[in-house]
Amino acid sequence: MAPKLNHWIDGRSAVPSNNSYREGVNPATGGGGVEVAQGNVDDVKAAVASAENAARSWRRFPSAQRGRLLGNLARTMRERSQELAELEIQDTGKPLAVALSEVENSAAYFEFYAGLVNFPVGDTLDVEPDQHIYTRREPFGVIGVITPWNVPLNQAARACAPALAAGNVVVVKPAEASSQTTVALAQMATEVGFPNGTFNVVLGKGSEVGTDLVRHPSVRKVAFTGSVAVGQTIGHLAADRVIPLTLELGGKSANIVFEDADLDFAAKEAVRAFTTNAGQICSAGTRLLVQRSIHDKFVRAVSEVVSTLRPGQDLGPMITRDQYQQVQKYFDVAKEEGLQTEVGGDLPADEKLQGGFYVNPTVYSNVDNSARLAQEEVFGPVLVAIPFDTEEDAIRIANSSDYGLVAAVWTKDISRAFRVTEEIEAGQVFINTWSTGAVQTPFGGHKYSGYGREKGIEALNHYSHLKCVVVSYADRQGHSAGLPD
Ligand code: NAD
Repeated sequence: MAPKLNHWIDGRSAVPSNNSYREGVNPATGGGGVEVAQGNVDDVKAAVASAENAARSWRRFPSAQRGRLLGNLARTMRERSQELAELEIQDTGKPLAVALSEVENSAAYFEFYAGLVNFPVGDTLDVEPDQHIYTRREPFGVIGVITPWNVPLNQAARACAPALAAGNVVVVKPAEASSQTTVALAQMATEVGFPNGTFNVVLGKGSEVGTDLVRHPSVRKVAFTGSVAVGQTIGHLAADRVIPLTLELGGKSANIVFEDADLDFAAKEAVRAFTTNAGQICSAGTRLLVQRSIHDKFVRAVSEVVSTLRPGQDLGPMITRDQYQQVQKYFDVAKEEGLQTEVGGDLPADEKLQGGFYVNPTVYSNVDNSARLAQEEVFGPVLVAIPFDTEEDAIRIANSSDYGLVAAVWTKDISRAFRVTEEIEAGQVFINTWSTGAVQTPFGGHKYSGYGREKGIEALNHYSHLKCVVVSYADRQGHSAGLPD
């Protein structure tokens, strides 16, 4: 019998109240995986009740102790990185090196925010004599965290570490296909000493337990990472409840290469930009904008590197069967739209990979930015190369997208690099490099890529709200000026 994965509620493993489980799928083979609890509204209520109870004491926990627990969790994650990586591989089929690097990055979130438990700080405001006015940041209480399936541990850590550091408690709803590491993380948190109820996980369908979590009256803020469509649904629910929401959604990020760039390095990075995690990364550089004078030569260089990548070794599978079918659908769309295939556009022939959800990394060249593959998020290792003529052209094409998550500019002309960077509609822009995993760097989108920021000190602002306190020490003859708001 397949092992069963249960909720983590109030510091212990919890069987779903309706005793229902969903059979998991191993994406590397297409065979069975762990059986995952399918919770319902009662499980959500139990998790939120436990969290609410813990919230009262957690916010009063001495901050240094809170920081120490976050640090201890980071250390434990590193000590048990192999175990976490293996769970992630069971759910996602990622290569071991990728899974291990994600565990390291996830631990780094807890380490970073462990040192920031007293930030951000409030201010004092000098308004009138005989008054002391100050602001303080306070935790919301119970935070609902909803995460996708592509980088599961990392996304849970990215939201939970700042939320806990700022004195909140969390109820996490991971994606159905990849819940194991989030439960393991909650269990480790309990083992290192987080009080019961500070870190809860409820498992199940997004449209059921996810919705129940957002609707729960005691959940005071939601951090959502996932698709635009679900982000919009959650946005409506959050608006009805008038609670704050952070949305980290999709992307179709532009990687802009000018003719004067270091082309050898840019080509290698362009490959990394769209093949990391087999392209299942919201910030993947899937639109390669190349100056026309070097387009053919540069695309050839990129395609040569791509053709050396081996699915099953260098690239994992698509994490879900739906996603596997979705990428193949886009291969068909590319054919229908007459895109020029440089490499890939099909499935690997390797017998050993049959049954698994593998696709070949793919490059299309000379693509117009209006093509569906240039506008829609494929969420697989699929690149479209789009020629451009001038700097203005590059900026216009880069911004002609519903999305605005990240972008890169490759040029030796530093003035141009800064000019283009200022014009690009994206939350992160890289100059002569691609991407950063650094937990210190604020991350988030423009346009349909979402709003709010995760990572960095900025995330702490999204996990706390501001209170202004006015203290009067005037004698009672006086009165304060101004109209109340
Ligand atoms: P998804 O939106 O289908 O699911 C994300 C999470 O939402 C899952 O836990 C799911 O169970 C839950 N959910 C689904 N319906 C819900 C509902 N009605 N109410 C509440 N919760 C619900 O996304 P996915 O397919 O798991 O992930 C892929 C998407 O995530 C891509 O679009 C990708 O770009 C995006 N993504 C964004 C970032 C980022 O940081 N910007 C990172 C990773 C992935």
